Amino acid sequence: MPICPNCGYEYVSGITYCRDCGVHLVAENYYVKPENWSEENWEVVYTSSQEFEVEMLKDNLEGAGIPAAILSQKDRNFPAPGDFSIVKLLVHKEDVQSALNFIEQIKNQLPDEEEEK
Ligand SMILES: [Zn+2]
Repeated sequence: MPICPNCGYEYVSGITYCRDCGVHLVAENYYVKPENWSEENWEVVYTSSQEFEVEMLKDNLEGAGIPAAILSQKDRNFPAPGDFSIVKLLVHKEDVQSALNFIEQIKNQLPDEEEEK
């Protein structure tokens, strides 16, 4: 079931925008926090308005043995520009540097950025 990242209202499948807030709805599972969740242990290494992009990076990081978590912008720590929500990719603090390097590599491998390497 899609959920509004702003007010938390749950909508039926097929609805893509919150009727009250006008923001794009996100999949419910983006609200599920990882086990042993603790803000101090996690650092944001990537943000995007594209859920699939963050999902892709998370899969790649976990494939490389780096635990990753996805969190949507529910806490409103920073306001979203326009009407889309921000999806955050988080890793453990000790993994931040390797995760950043890894994300950089993945981004470089994307077809549309592949230029005379
Ligand atoms: Zn809403």
